[in-house]
Amino acid sequence: MSDTPVIGVLALQGDVREHLVALAAADAVARPVRRPEELAEVDGLVLPGGESTTISKLAVLFGLMEPLRARMRDGLPVYGTCAGMIMLADKILDPRSGQETIGGIDMIVRRNAFGRQNESFEAAVDVEGVEGAPVEGVFIRAPWVESVGAAAEVLAEHDGHIVAVRQGNALATSFHPELTGDHRVHGLFVEMVRANRTAESL
Ligand code: GLN
Repeated sequence: MSDTPVIGVLALQGDVREHLVALAAADAVARPVRRPEELAEVDGLVLPGGESTTISKLAVLFGLMEPLRARMRDGLPVYGTCAGMIMLADKILDPRSGQETIGGIDMIVRRNAFGRQNESFEAAVDVEGVEGAPVEGVFIRAPWVESVGAAAEVLAEHDGHIVAVRQGNALATSFHPELTGDHRVHGLFVEMVRANRTAESL
């Protein structure tokens, strides 16, 4: 087994390329995932930002929803940003009709929570587990987490709202670290993937 983890980026819709670049910069081999066979080959997976309703529908259409749930149940490390965070929520407050999530994190997420007028903003966010200065959080029609269950750990808040959560091997942020050139959050995820591979090979 080579030491470098292979991390997929779900490439149905959204900012796939930016995540591929950030993962490569954080010392992973990064590749797009569109088919169940490609999903089977990765050590970890990123769910990009984009439009969660579209990603949800395409995941069903491409036959990926059940394989995604199954691999997560088996402990696949997954990191979701923005729309990807919505995909990881066990419950969303305002689903569009037909919108499903993969689930995996015991949290309730509100879509577009930071408001439409204020569609996009940046803020310094202190993320537990990320060393050094706060990360520059880019929020684009971002969700926030209304509440988490006992198994989920809050890693960051902004303005009193939860914006980063971890539960076991699943990580989610409301914001987009892949857009800033600061690869520390991807680095944290790559470490989670490495630790999981080590645990699995014991
Ligand atoms: N508002 C989008 C959604 O509901 C998420 C936006 C984003 O990923 N930047 O899916």
